[in-house]
Amino acid sequence: MKSAMGGPDYIVDIAGVRARSPGETDPPASLQGRPWIAVEWACCGVYGRVYRNRSGDAYEARCPKCQRPVRVRIGPGGTDHRFFRAE
Ligand SMILES: [Zn+2]
Repeated sequence: MKSAMGGPDYIVDIAGVRARSPGETDPPASLQGRPWIAVEWACCGVYGRVYRNRSGDAYEARCPKCQRPVRVRIGPGGTDHRFFRAE
């Protein structure tokens, strides 16, 4: 197999660049590098990332569709799960 340009038929994998799912957007610069968890909002059946808040004691966000808030506290004895469902 040859590429259309006649060059090598391989792709150089650039560090830091990764495939993303369609529709996924870059987080704001202020959120890059911040820890996040995955949350499913059962109210609207949507998934999203929830980022750690400024004080670092919880993950907080709102449902992207209905703005319903979700808050996952961080603390000793807490879960180490990285996926949550907001009922
Ligand atoms: Zn919702």
